[in-house]
Amino acid sequence: MSEFEKISKNGKITRRELLKLALPHALISESKDSGMASGKVKLDGSRCMGCWLCARDCPAEALVVSSNEETGCCQLLFRQQRCDACGTCVAVCPEKCLRLEQFDETQQIEALPSLLFEDEVVRCRECGCIIGAGAMISALKTKIASNDALASLFELCPSCKTRVSFTLGNNKNVA
Ligand code: SF4
Ligand code: SF4
Repeated sequence: MSEFEKISKNGKITRRELLKLALPHALISESKDSGMASGKVKLDGSRCMGCWLCARDCPAEALVVSSNEETGCCQLLFRQQRCDACGTCVAVCPEKCLRLEQFDETQQIEALPSLLFEDEVVRCRECGCIIGAGAMISALKTKIASNDALASLFELCPSCKTRVSFTLGNNKNVA
């Protein structure tokens, strides 16, 4: 039986227990004295638009984005063992849909990543590369619904967008 299996209960493990596995004893005492924080991030899925700014700015890589080729979906995952409750994700979220709960060292933290948000992946209609989550592309297109030509550019990756914009500009000059 591994050290992790001996110490964890029902797939859950406290931060203190995790530190026992990872750090020398001296460092555990030090982190206890420093009152190291832990957190749990909650997300209101009805407001999230899959911009991934929270994952981009999370300094601890506690928030990560993964995509699945088979299902055609992208996911925002939260790894609680890594979260140090800094609050950066809550501050950068443009939709204000993240909430942070403080944990202390006596509470059990999830050993496995939890799924916060899932959406379909949107691909560039020209080259097929991934350009973002469906909710974000829809939100951007809705904001400029009055301009069809501009809205259709959100269906392209950055390099195809540059090429198409350049072609459109050249055609305008010829006309
Ligand atoms: S609180 Fe900080 S460490 Fe935790 S998920 Fe948010 S940005 Fe990452
Ligand atoms: S939680 Fe906020 S920052 Fe993160 S993907 Fe959703 S809208 Fe973007």
